[in-house]
Parts: sequence; structure tokens; C-alpha cells
Amino acid sequence: MSRRTDVVVIGGGQSGLAAGYHLRRLGIEHVILDARPAPGGAWQHTWESLRLFSPAAYSSLPGRLMPVQEGQVYPDAAHVIAYLADYEKRYELPVQHGVWVDAVHRDGAFLRVETDCGGWRARAVISATGTWTRPFLPAVPGRRDFAGRQVHSAHYQGPRDFAGQRVIVVGGGNSGAQIAADLTGHADLTWVTRRPPRYLADDIDGRALFDHATARRRALDEGRADTGGVASLGDIVAVPPVRAARDAGLLAVRQMFSRLTVGGVEWADGTQAEADAVIWCTGFRPALAHLAGLRLRGTRGHITTSGTRSVEDPRFHFLGYGDWTGPASATLIGVGRPARETARQIRDLLD
Ligand code: FAD
Repeated sequence: MSRRTDVVVIGGGQSGLAAGYHLRRLGIEHVILDARPAPGGAWQHTWESLRLFSPAAYSSLPGRLMPVQEGQVYPDAAHVIAYLADYEKRYELPVQHGVWVDAVHRDGAFLRVETDCGGWRARAVISATGTWTRPFLPAVPGRRDFAGRQVHSAHYQGPRDFAGQRVIVVGGGNSGAQIAADLTGHADLTWVTRRPPRYLADDIDGRALFDHATARRRALDEGRADTGGVASLGDIVAVPPVRAARDAGLLAVRQMFSRLTVGGVEWADGTQAEADAVIWCTGFRPALAHLAGLRLRGTRGHITTSGTRSVEDPRFHFLGYGDWTGPASATLIGVGRPARETARQIRDLLD
């Protein structure tokens, strides 16, 4: 027997909570189903030394400023988790934790949401499942042959696990730079990237990135020329630990190896190096398995959307994930705007 509601939000991380905030403001009945037993979404899985790349006030969801963390300009993950737990409670958001959504089916005018705790019937679904459950590993020759340890950044916790080991960190983005910096002084580090790392200017943090994304949105909305995404500024935010390691000359990079061997890697010139572990900082893909079979067409793992709404079926919205659901929508401060627009469009659909 299925329960009834107007909207099911799948995922109770920051994106799902921002959706709940705006649905509640518009008086739309909904439920938020989240697989994790506790609040915090993917912030529950980050490595110990991770700090936000924006100050607290620039890391806020709609309606409530993130409080400053004592003694820290850039808050840590525990502070974000506490903020999200408080946010959920403060706005009495109807989150059901520990509920895994297996699939969504079309059922006439309704959508049927199947979970490991029974089913729901709804008139619209917001998918806000993030990317953490889908780490991406590139197809590198020899990956299965390597006898050492392979870890994705999704599961990296800290340098302790790699003390004294020969570690290869793969990836030229923020995770690669931050984990490489984290390992300096603990492991024998080799950092490899496909192209030379592109650091943002030292005075650019998440604030400037958000302003840039907002200016771009405004330009596009007003029919002006595209000012370019934040990627046009660089790939790596020079957060203090990265800056310190880089300036101390500890973040040298090598060009990506050509293959993994049983005991390490082979470089493009044919020479080899031994390694105990490889840490893949190679990104994520949207976690959308629960929508497989619905034929919501898209490319490169993204579903085709207009704003956050599926072009194929307007009862489906997508929040978070990346720029394809709105500029900076996978950040704390950036998800508010697309969440508000999503709630408004759903109100119009229900009307
Ligand atoms: P998530 O936090 O992943 O939440 C999704 C939720 O959905 C999870 O609780 C998950 O369990 C649940 N779920 C998934 N599948 C299902 C299912 N089938 N059924 C039920 N529940 C499901 N952003 C910033 O704003 N500032 C930063 O400084 C910053 N730094 C970052 C640093 C790193 C290294 C990374 C990786 C990201 C960073 N981000 C930062 C980006 C961003 O804030 C996070 O990726 C954020 O967690 C995305 O939130 P979300 O709610 O979309 O997804």
C-alpha cells in the first residue's frame, strides 16, 4: 500500500533540504527520503582536514546564515553537518532518514516511488541524490593488475592511512591538490595530472567563484554574451594548506603515467616507478540509478533539463549535481536559487 504526498524529494543532503525549505514556504506537501541514517549528506564522508573554500556566511542555505565556526574562517565538515542537522530541525523539514529509494515508475497521473521501506505516490519528484555514491575511475591500462591499494578520494580519510608509503595522487582538481597537500610530510608523494595544474589567484575563494557564477547567470538571463563558467578562472582554489604546500615547493607534478603495472606505474618514456597506493581524485558522476528505465534522455550521464526540470517529463526536477542544474548548484550557497525556482515550477504544475 503506497502513501500519498504531492512531492517526493529523493536525497536529504543540502540540496534536498533547500528544496524542502522552499516547498514548505509555498505550503506544498512533501516528504524527503534520505538513505543516510543521520543528517549531513556527503559531508559525512570527507577527509579530516577538509575545510570549506568559502567563509561561513558564504556557505549558507536559504533562510539561515551558517554561524561562524569559532577560530576558523573556513569551517570544517563537522561544522557543516551540525548546520545541516540544525537546519532540518529548525524548519521542521519532513526528512525520513535511512530510506533508500530503489526506483521511480510512472503510474498514470502519478509517480510511484519504491523504497526499502515501502512505496509513495506523488505528483512530482525532485532528485537530489548528489554524486558521492558514484565515484568515477578513468579507464587506465593495467588498473586491475596493480597489486597495491587503490582508493578514490570519496573514501580518503587522512594521511595516517598512508604514513611512510609511496603514494601516487591522480587528478588536477581541488581534491587532487588538497589530498596531495594533506599527504606532504607523511608519505612519499607523487602527484600526477593530465595537464599542468591551474591555480586560481590566491585571493580568490568561494565568494569570488559564487559572484562569478551569479554574474554569468545574469548575463545569460539578459541575453548578453556568456562570461564563461568558473572553470575559465582555473581549477584549484588555493586554500591555505594547498597554498602553503605549493609555496614550500612540495606540490611538484608529473605528467599522467601511461599505465599501471603490478608494482607501480610506467611513465610515458617507458621508465617505471614503484608505488604502494594510488589515490584517484578523478571526480564523480550523478547518482541517478533510481531513475533508470524512465527514459529521461540525456548525454554524458546528465539528464536534459531546462533549468532543473526534465525536458522529457516536467514532473521530474534535478537539484545539486553540477552546473547543468544551475550555476554553482552543487554548492551550499548556490543551491538556494534553483531550489526556489524548482518549488515555484512545481507549484504551477500542481495548480
Ligand atoms: P549529497 O550531500 O551527496 O546528498 C545526497 C543525499 O542523497 C545523501 O544523503 C545520500 O545518502 C542520499 N541518496 C543518494 N542516493 C539515494 C537514494 N537512491 N535513495 C535515498 N537517498 C539517496 N561546496 C561548498 O559549498 N563549499 C565547499 O567548500 C565545498 N567543498 C567541497 C570539497 C570537496 C572535496 C567536495 C567533493 C565537494 C565540495 N563541495 C563544496 C560541493 C558540495 O557542497 C557537495 O558535493 C554537496 O555534498 C552536494 O550536496 P547534495 O545535497 O547535492 O548531495
